[in-house]
Amino acid sequence: MTADLIPELPDAADDAALAFASLAVRAGQSRSAEGEHSEAIYPTSSYVFDSAAQAAARFAGEEPGNIYSRFTNPTVRMFEQRLAALEGGEACVATSSGMAAVLTACMGLLKQGDHVVCSRDVFGNTTALLNNFLARFGVATTYVPLSDTAAWRAALRPETKVLYLETPSNPLMELADIRELADIAHGHGALLVVDNCFCTPAQQQPLALGADVVVHSATKYIDGQGRCVGGAVVGSKALIEKDIFTFLRNAGPTMSPFNAWVFLKGLETLPLRMRAHSAAALELAQWLAVHPAVARVNYPGLETHPQHALARRQQSGFGGVLSFELEGGRAAAWSVIDAVRMISITGNLGDTKSTITHPATTTHGKLSAEQKAAAGITEGLIRVSVGLEDVTDIRRDLARGLDALAR
Ligand SMILES: *Cc1c(COP(=O)(O)O)cnc(C)c1O
Repeated sequence: MTADLIPELPDAADDAALAFASLAVRAGQSRSAEGEHSEAIYPTSSYVFDSAAQAAARFAGEEPGNIYSRFTNPTVRMFEQRLAALEGGEACVATSSGMAAVLTACMGLLKQGDHVVCSRDVFGNTTALLNNFLARFGVATTYVPLSDTAAWRAALRPETKVLYLETPSNPLMELADIRELADIAHGHGALLVVDNCFCTPAQQQPLALGADVVVHSATKYIDGQGRCVGGAVVGSKALIEKDIFTFLRNAGPTMSPFNAWVFLKGLETLPLRMRAHSAAALELAQWLAVHPAVARVNYPGLETHPQHALARRQQSGFGGVLSFELEGGRAAAWSVIDAVRMISITGNLGDTKSTITHPATTTHGKLSAEQKAAAGITEGLIRVSVGLEDVTDIRRDLARGLDALAR
């Protein structure tokens, strides 16, 4: 008989009965014989066997256990089991970055001749990965507007294997109805993959809504403090252990135990941080919505958001990212960005530090004018990832540039 490919951790806590915040602190912890309270970091590339026979059994997959840290590592396993518990998934594979998670999901789930339907507003590198690399290996992709269910249906082909989306979208904070798209995917014999980076499991659990696979950039809210790059793929044991883990084991986009430890610590405060990010973002969105220099605010927590009802139903919080639009195009947007003194001008998001970005010339700068127009990325658009500074200071920092425009 073949043992499970991914060994269970010894003495992992029985987490079944714990609430979300408790799982964030406790799930997946495995203590060594030293009895350490905080999770241990295991910096080892390989593992020692008791005998030649045991080595043979491990390599043959007949006995569970560690072999080599490209495949499994106890610190990384603790992170994987904790995130799986939070997403409500059976299994998880951690990766070296969010893009490595997207690549691992694609390589594990797709083959030559397959077709992907993808929402138009996904992370730029995901689009590049699908268009410039997977296309070379005979995987075709069709892009559809995220919230247009009819367009998703119309894009299906007999060879469609994966529907892929991010919700809410970056930077316009548009939503997809995960349950509806899961039904469309399953009715077609395809899988639904959701990038859950913006909400995290603290505010949205795609697997419970019918998605098959969740991918993460742990770089964002899971770390939450801007320190490490990492990612993860979560889903059923059958999908993750067979297709996803096997790719990771052979190709090696593995998370380091040091980074896994940082992400474990990040998960412990994730529910608290997400609540604080969301509360500050809502307050800021409400203030921006009535500022005379601001033409429009995109934030699902506002009652004026066209999909506010869906956001209330599908998410347990509205997230920490918002965007807003100024009439004066690039000059106006840049003047507001250049007037900030505290907020960081950087492309990253999901940090304790608030960040401000001009999508049209940075994160979405590689899109053609037509692509930007279709995606709603205007020259007057600004994205803010609302951090954990006092919201009064964030508001004052933005007001400096906005008040000058309104004069
Ligand atoms: C950042 C990001 C990624 C890529 O993650 P990295 O950790 O930077 O590789 C993927 N999806 C979304 C939505 C992101 O914001």
